[in-house]
Amino acid sequence: MVQKSTPVAVCGSLTSDQVRILREHGTERPGSSPLNHEKRPGTYRCAGCGNPLFTANAKYESGSGWPSFFDVLPGAIEERKDDSLGMVRVEVLCANCKGHLGHVFPDGPPPTGLRYCMNGLILDFQPEDSTHSDAI
Ligand SMILES: [Zn+2]
Repeated sequence: MVQKSTPVAVCGSLTSDQVRILREHGTERPGSSPLNHEKRPGTYRCAGCGNPLFTANAKYESGSGWPSFFDVLPGAIEERKDDSLGMVRVEVLCANCKGHLGHVFPDGPPPTGLRYCMNGLILDFQPEDSTHSDAI
């Protein structure tokens, strides 16, 4: 017998707001994400596919109202020029599922000088102390 329905993605567990951001390039309200205040060590993953995107070490308080990072995990994202809204910005996409995550701006802190401005809704934070698998 063949399996009729093999789940290929975790999209079924996403909220409509998450789908709106990931698939339709939406933006959450500034200051609305509880991740703005998240300070624990850990990993931020794409809520759409689980791809690790950022570590908490690269997170900083930008004051923008969105979770911000100055660095990204190697190969985690793709960048694409976005000239909507009458300005040229660089869109940040998940390299794995191509979901829209946010934008990157050249006004971040050292050492990268970059500000990855993310929608908290599409970040899935995994605190470091909650992972008990895999030896270090
Ligand atoms: Zn993804």
